[in-house]
Amino acid sequence: MKILRHPHEVFPPIDYVRREGASVGLVPTMGALHAGHYALVRQSAAQCDKTVATIFVNPTQFGLHEDLSRYPRTLEDDLEGLAAAGADFVFLPQESHLYPTGFSTFVEPPAVSLPLEGTIRPGHYRGVATIVLKLFNLIPATTAFFGRKDYQQLLTIQKMVEDLNVPIRVEACETIREKDGLALSSRNRYLSPEDRFRAVGIYRSLQAALKVFELGAHETAALDAVLTQTLRENSIDHIDYARVVDAQTLQEIESVSSQAVALIAVRLGATRLIDNWTFQT
Ligand code: AMP
Repeated sequence: MKILRHPHEVFPPIDYVRREGASVGLVPTMGALHAGHYALVRQSAAQCDKTVATIFVNPTQFGLHEDLSRYPRTLEDDLEGLAAAGADFVFLPQESHLYPTGFSTFVEPPAVSLPLEGTIRPGHYRGVATIVLKLFNLIPATTAFFGRKDYQQLLTIQKMVEDLNVPIRVEACETIREKDGLALSSRNRYLSPEDRFRAVGIYRSLQAALKVFELGAHETAALDAVLTQTLRENSIDHIDYARVVDAQTLQEIESVSSQAVALIAVRLGATRLIDNWTFQT
């Protein structure tokens, strides 16, 4: 596995393998890798001739009072895991190389980035869209792999790629979960034992809403109530949102007619967790 550190180093070898006719998969991450990230790398390695992973804790997607400085960093373990999962290249850029003094161009993210996470974390998807487009420009991959775990991020990137005619295919990968259903997240390591115990309430609440949905309750007000009630029953009181919305636009709907998604963001102590589940009629 080759480690590339400077933006100048990264384009030529990837461009070379593309010219040779190879397909290239790209897996952008912020490090502190877990089985969810490695599943993306394995999926890329299975589908593409070469796989490039990136590790960069992108400062422009963190708000002023968010956890940029305490975001976990576990580089040695990450590199070992990436090699084992089948990555051929790892791009480890420095902040000053991606955002040099005078950097001032940002991507205006699409409408789907505005509700929910977009309201609670203003500027977050502007930072995400900007760094992802920079990575797409630096690394001329055929396919980029993103997790459904970050559902609104996935839609934001899919729409950006479509709107800006970026020549890359976006592949959505399933959420990898702990045995009890908690979605793997780099932030889970910060949960106290008590908060880890409560965290399973997020999954339980998605499953409770799914069950009610499958029994025929398609009104979003009823489904939202199940989400919130189940979170509260599991002692999760800091709910940023827990809502069933249209699966493509993330706009509010009265009732689920084809595809909808339940999106949840909660805070457990100082740790903020998100998860989602898609419903289909
Ligand atoms: P992050 O490092 O958290 O920015 O995530 C990098 C990529 O891994 C994103 O595409 C995430 O959606 C994806 N990812 C994070 N957690 C999971 C998970 N539990 N299962 C599948 N993909 C995940």
